[in-house]
Amino acid sequence: MLVQGENVLRVLRDGGHQAFFVGGCVRDEWMGRPVHDMDIATSAKPDEVVRLFERTVPTGIQHGTVTVLMEGQAFEVTTFRKESDYADHRRPASVEFVDAVAEDLRRRDFTMNAIARGLDGELIDPFDGRSDIERGLIRCVGVAEERFEEDALRMMRAVRFASTFGFRPVKSLWKALLDGRDKLGYIATERVRMELEKILQGPDPLRGLALLERSGLLRHAKAAQGPAEPEAVADAGGEALGAEAALAQRLLHREPPRRALLGALPLLEPAPPALRWSLLLQALGAPGEAASLLLKSWTFPNQTAQEAAGIVRFDEAWEAIQTGAPGEREQRRGWIGLQVAFGRETAGLWLRRQQAVLQAASGDDAWRQAGQAVLTNAARWHREVRVHTLKELAVSGGEVLQAAGRKGGPWLSELLRELLLAVAAGELPNDRQTLLQHVETGGKENGSNS
Ligand code: ATP
Ligand code: MG
Repeated sequence: MLVQGENVLRVLRDGGHQAFFVGGCVRDEWMGRPVHDMDIATSAKPDEVVRLFERTVPTGIQHGTVTVLMEGQAFEVTTFRKESDYADHRRPASVEFVDAVAEDLRRRDFTMNAIARGLDGELIDPFDGRSDIERGLIRCVGVAEERFEEDALRMMRAVRFASTFGFRPVKSLWKALLDGRDKLGYIATERVRMELEKILQGPDPLRGLALLERSGLLRHAKAAQGPAEPEAVADAGGEALGAEAALAQRLLHREPPRRALLGALPLLEPAPPALRWSLLLQALGAPGEAASLLLKSWTFPNQTAQEAAGIVRFDEAWEAIQTGAPGEREQRRGWIGLQVAFGRETAGLWLRRQQAVLQAASGDDAWRQAGQAVLTNAARWHREVRVHTLKELAVSGGEVLQAAGRKGGPWLSELLRELLLAVAAGELPNDRQTLLQHVETGGKENGSNS
């Protein structure tokens, strides 16, 4: 599995240094999981690493990390180091290089992440990480309280690994996490968010969210607090992603449709982040307006925030249409109206999402069958709609104005919107002549009535 990196170890060893695979790649290989990024620890100092390889990037040279490019792959090569002087419960700014791999392993977060593997497959496992992996346990290297005190992100990582591997945190770790959870407020939102993303991308996001809920950890995240944000954001952040409001209870037991929202996540991989977050936010009960603010407070790029909130709003509007219009004809018109208003892409994302939600909804057959019938229709309507914007309409505003023979006013944009919807729904052809005729006769009355 780690064959690709072996030449890197060989070069380092031939250069007279010690070198090992470490961290996630050793853990994943041992667990029989796909290995995605390759970390190598070495006794060579960064400048020596740079000298030994043809192509390197000084990724984090002050921390001892050099990226080696070899055989079309990138390897993070880090000099054995020890971390001290943690300030503000975050990773230290300064590091000290050390001579032995055992010393380097001591700074790592969990026993399963503190195993080194040499070129001949020999394992250095001073904290017995293998037996914790075998038993499915997450355990800190050293005293959990101290390790979380040093770097509060480790608490999020513990929950993330518990969630993605289906492991259990050992008691002492969990207790330390409960005691130290308020320190998460020192960690940059982006880093907390990345752990959340990994939970959502994992095979069982519900487990991670339930753990987060039980721990109360997220309530202490910067994004869930801050008077730095407008109040609404703080409220939304606290309520939707951190509050104790019996979230797990709600998600796990009471509401199968909501559970299905989370169950859909693994079915959607790979899903654009907007899709993932729209599901999470809805599962947590954040309405469209709150969703958008919430995502901003979690430092999402504007576009992702808008897309995710758009999907939530689309779903809400569609729900309202279905409630108000039981007939298929009205539903079709309602759907097409939404597709035109939100755009083809958002509607398409919603369809994809809904398919996964239905698939994930077990044990509620009536709900699922009804949903499937609606979805089949909606997917057909989605394909049928050909125009989405006024630009695509065969007539311009000026032409409509002239044909109507009236003074301009708000009626014009309303009429244009009506024409667009009628064309999108296939009630009128997208043909200049026909549309103008329609305006001259029927459209005129419509316009003056409204
Ligand atoms: P992933 O599968 O997400 O890559 P990983 O364990 O490899 O998981 P990385 O963030 O790639 O995580 O870190 C590589 C290694 O660095 C970890 O296995 C661990 O040994 C160490 N490490 C990472 N973050 C921390 C931390 N906050 N505190 C201590 N050690 C850490
Ligand atoms: Mg890794």
